[in-house]
Amino acid sequence: MICMNCSKPACLEACPRDSIYRREEDGVILIDEERCHGYRFCMEACPYKRIYFNEQRVVAQKCISCFPRLENGVAPACVRQCPGRVRHLGHIDDPDSSIHKLVRKWKVALPLRPDFEVEPNVFYVPPMLPTAFDENGEFDEEASRMPIEELRDLFGPGVDQALATIASERDKVAAGGHSELMDMLIAHDWKRPARTVPRGSRHVGSAPAALAGGRLTPMAALLGTASDHRRAAASRCAVRAPRGAVRVPGRRAGRIGSQR
Ligand code: SF4
Ligand code: SF4
Repeated sequence: MICMNCSKPACLEACPRDSIYRREEDGVILIDEERCHGYRFCMEACPYKRIYFNEQRVVAQKCISCFPRLENGVAPACVRQCPGRVRHLGHIDDPDSSIHKLVRKWKVALPLRPDFEVEPNVFYVPPMLPTAFDENGEFDEEASRMPIEELRDLFGPGVDQALATIASERDKVAAGGHSELMDMLIAHDWKRPARTVPRGSRHVGSAPAALAGGRLTPMAALLGTASDHRRAAASRCAVRAPRGAVRVPGRRAGRIGSQR
């Protein structure tokens, strides 16, 4: 599972070996496998449970945000290879990026469980509420199979407005109009989400959209990482460098082969 590359990573704070660090250049959170002694405090601390334990090597491992690919200007494998083009990748401060538009402009991509207070840099477009069936097996347009309270628990109070925005834009397209938001969610310009990442890009991200029951059901996951804490005031997605997050020169994550 994708690491959220949190701005306040609980995993990093929990490691007594100081094995977890943030890369200054792109904000990616990595585990130094040479320092890790397999205590697993990070696994307990991560509220999203994105860290697993390699029993054979006795080290904690997680998504590495495909940082070797990023360093070569290539999008992460899950972004590049997803046939549904459900993930977007971009710099949240870049007004032309889909990440910026979905998170900042349209405000339909939301952090998962913001109450965890670790400031994740992966954002999700919540699913449209599916219509429930009545006792006769007919659609009940007034009822939903997914309680809105559940979505508020998952995405916070902003989910109501996000769903209203998506529904409004969907209806606009259904009436023959055009919507920038819908074009992004259905990956109309599918090459953009998986485009090559400019070298030196500080932020990366992703997003899915799916068709279900004949209705557009966006379920987008967006990832934006940032390392420049000087931008923190202007960017929710920017990383506020936490205590102990200073990169130790010469450190490196485990071999990529070991992450497969
Ligand atoms: S999602 Fe978990 S493993 Fe990833 S940075 Fe956040 S706390 Fe750490
Ligand atoms: S493909 Fe890369 S970015 Fe995607 S989940 Fe795996 S390691 Fe993370």
